[in-house]
Amino acid sequence: MSFQLPKLPYAYDALEPHIDARTMEIHHSKHHNGYTNNLNNAIQGTDLESKSILDILENMDMSNMAVRNNGGGFYNHDLFWKIMSPNGGGEPSGDLAAAINEEFGSFEEFKNAFSKAAATRFGSGWAWLCVHKGGKVKVCSTPNQDNPLMPEIGCGGVPVLGLDVWEHAYYLHYQNRRPDYINSFFNLINWEEVNRRYNEGK
Ligand code: MN
Repeated sequence: MSFQLPKLPYAYDALEPHIDARTMEIHHSKHHNGYTNNLNNAIQGTDLESKSILDILENMDMSNMAVRNNGGGFYNHDLFWKIMSPNGGGEPSGDLAAAINEEFGSFEEFKNAFSKAAATRFGSGWAWLCVHKGGKVKVCSTPNQDNPLMPEIGCGGVPVLGLDVWEHAYYLHYQNRRPDYINSFFNLINWEEVNRRYNEGK
């Protein structure tokens, strides 16, 4: 069995003006497609071929760079597309809102912590909100296409919200203004989906 490039749940131009259509098209049809094809090539003929992507991430041989980079890239982008929506933005509600307030004091303080993790990730990588056993939430960041589910990452927990801060995610529209891109991302967050992942992961 091989992995398939997931379809975007909206049109390439649906996230404008926050993320432009050209960036979305290249990001999905070139970058995400590349990770998908390279993952399939890397696992072909190995016992990973029959495993789920979660199984592959959680039991990652961190020295296998082809599977690590492309397995991470495959999963991370799938999460990224789904936790955004043209109707996103606002604030979470329910159990997730309570967990965020408990950990950070307020939604604004969470936003500051997440934005800082995204802005200070040197080079390429991701910022994450993860849920730990029992429901506690934490912010962290990872380099390259690493994911908190992989061993030895140090974040721990299940990622429920992720922001791609590779230059390919924002450079056409924002050039070097990563903080503006991070700020715009908050207008796109699909909190309903993040809350669903929180309840599933806790
Ligand atoms: Mn990307």
